[in-house]
Amino acid sequence: MSQDLSDIPVQFLKGVGPTKAKLLANLGIHTIDDLLYLFPYRYEDRSQLMPIAMVKAGEKQTVAGQVFKVGKRNFYSRTRAFEIVVGDKTGRIFCVWFNQPYLDKYFKEGQEIVLYGRVEVFKNRLQMLMPDFELIPPEDRTLNMGRIVPVYPLTRGVTQRYLRKIIDTALRLYAGQIKDVVPWDIRRRHQLGDIADNIEHIHFPRTEQDQQKANGRVAFEEFFLFQICVILRRLSIVHKKGFAHQIEAPFIGQYKKNFPFVLTVAQCRAIEEIAVDMRKARPMLRLLQGDVGCGKTVVAFLGCMAAVKNGAQAAIMAPTEILASQHYVNLKRFFAQGPFKETRVGLLTSRMPKKHKDTLYRQLKEKEIDIIIGTHALLQATVDFANLSFVVIDEQHKFGVSQRALLSSKGSNPDVLIMTATPIPRTLCLTLYGDLDISIIDQLPPGRGKISTYQFSTEKAPGVYERVRQWVAAGTQAYIIYPLVEESEKLDLKAAKESFEHFVQFEFKGFRLGMVHGQMDRSDVENIMQEFKQHDIDILVATTILEVGIDVPNANVMVIEHAERFGLSQLHQLRGRIGRGPKDAICLLVADPSTEEAKARLEAIVKTTDGFKIAEYDLQIRGPGHYFGRYQHGLNELRVANPVTQLDLLEKARFEAGNLIKEDSSLQNPAHTVIKQVIKKRYPQYLDMVLAG
Ligand code: ADP
Ligand code: MG
Repeated sequence: MSQDLSDIPVQFLKGVGPTKAKLLANLGIHTIDDLLYLFPYRYEDRSQLMPIAMVKAGEKQTVAGQVFKVGKRNFYSRTRAFEIVVGDKTGRIFCVWFNQPYLDKYFKEGQEIVLYGRVEVFKNRLQMLMPDFELIPPEDRTLNMGRIVPVYPLTRGVTQRYLRKIIDTALRLYAGQIKDVVPWDIRRRHQLGDIADNIEHIHFPRTEQDQQKANGRVAFEEFFLFQICVILRRLSIVHKKGFAHQIEAPFIGQYKKNFPFVLTVAQCRAIEEIAVDMRKARPMLRLLQGDVGCGKTVVAFLGCMAAVKNGAQAAIMAPTEILASQHYVNLKRFFAQGPFKETRVGLLTSRMPKKHKDTLYRQLKEKEIDIIIGTHALLQATVDFANLSFVVIDEQHKFGVSQRALLSSKGSNPDVLIMTATPIPRTLCLTLYGDLDISIIDQLPPGRGKISTYQFSTEKAPGVYERVRQWVAAGTQAYIIYPLVEESEKLDLKAAKESFEHFVQFEFKGFRLGMVHGQMDRSDVENIMQEFKQHDIDILVATTILEVGIDVPNANVMVIEHAERFGLSQLHQLRGRIGRGPKDAICLLVADPSTEEAKARLEAIVKTTDGFKIAEYDLQIRGPGHYFGRYQHGLNELRVANPVTQLDLLEKARFEAGNLIKEDSSLQNPAHTVIKQVIKKRYPQYLDMVLAG
């Protein structure tokens, strides 16, 4: 039997050795299997290189030629530039790098070089600013020139040329031993070619069609393995025994009467779906999707009250303290009178005094608290329940799979409701959450105002502030949002504070202003938010800590400064803070977008307020990998497959995976054991996912 490629250390491959092996480990490459499954993220067509005379300005292009001249220049007074001239038979192009004097070590006149970058015309000559480049010695031409070449992710000390070389070596030696995990009958049904050929073609395609076919073949494999895990996770839940709640219709009726408003049809439907699940002994795992402001909280509270009615406890976890305490306040307020007023509710955040926390821990354990609302603090080992039967995760994209699992593990298979205001396009739901039940609230409570959104350049900001003054003078409250990102936190904060001073003294003189930002004490933030809620403040200047949840119905104007710096769903979330009352609202984006992506984002947010459409745009603009941020393991683990553009493949793989598990749920059939092995070795994170379910 041939050796498993995931058991052969890459170190023993010709041309690697211990030093390079360490560097390769930074790319996650430890074995031959890892190396063969490191896929290019793009390709360069060097089969027919563009003659320099034909290159188009304004586009990213690949050219090849010889280095003619190497030199340093002082461009402006302080910037030192390094410049080379590259030429072929038809013309020449200048390449410029700033402040990288060490580059002169790399280049020698007469060398063969390949350049990749945006071509521009500068002072009447063709130029590339800081292009990617590769120097190609004559003996390496076969892998690096005259063909479609793969471009891989790199790490320090590992070059494209080097990776191409060792991958080529590995393919020659080991391609025949790559295991085909997709059983042969499935391969036959979908006309999937030999895996080895396709792995070869994904690295070194002869034609574009080759590459696309190989991509589809590997994507199928990826979807297939991923779906097997998703389906197994689902099965593991189905067979667990949880808490069978008794929820009678009159109880639900009584519950609905508690609110000063009538629940929407969509809210009622979601409540029924949850009740059906909660009555069953098998644990619920349900995703509640609905746009900002549609009223998910009221739906989640029903589950909490049902748990309490059944003598158990409930927990709600929210991503920020403000949001947790808002839920807490709402819960107290809604149920201050009526049949639920005896419910004992607690609030737990990490910044509370230790003594207070200790009391809460004890009360939870001794069941002196029925419902606990909190932040990540709920995940602490010290949090222990007497009998937890219902768990709510609010804004689930802020939490990881394992965090969700950790909270659930504090009960004995409790029912779990995860909520998101960033709707997830159907395609992704299927990929990632094929294992979840889904409830959708597709309607807003009646009588909400309309939100209009407009975009302005920074130059036009004075006009924007004039509009704010008019609205606020008429009795509305306003938010002015500043970006504050980790990388440039100090600068951002300074900019926001300076603007605030300026607003107080000039733009909004005579109005009552307040400011909140992430560096402030929670109690200060809360005080100011409270003043804003009570309309003791007219204009609130804030950084993105407002992103989720805050609810002030009289605030109907929002200015978002530097809107080009926000992500699309972030903008949507922010805008969701206004238009929560009956009056119309206005959102003014001040932005100077410089990239196509930023322009597309702003266009999308101006065009629609429909969260589902925005989610689709976001997916198109940014691709699925970014969609969930770093917390969502699943999607980022797809290396080649793209659930948006390859939906048909995904559906086929899903169907086949389902059939296979139906026949052999423990993957014991000798033809299926390889599936288990490969998942364990190549995608161990998929298994975590199953366990975490
Ligand atoms: P989200 O779904 O964004 O979390 P919330 O649950 O915070 O929304 O609800 C937004 C606001 O709408 C809250 O003030 C809530 O009390 C109110 N609300 C919820 N349901 C209704 C309804 N059926 N009619 C009127 N207002 C409602
Ligand atoms: Mg909410």
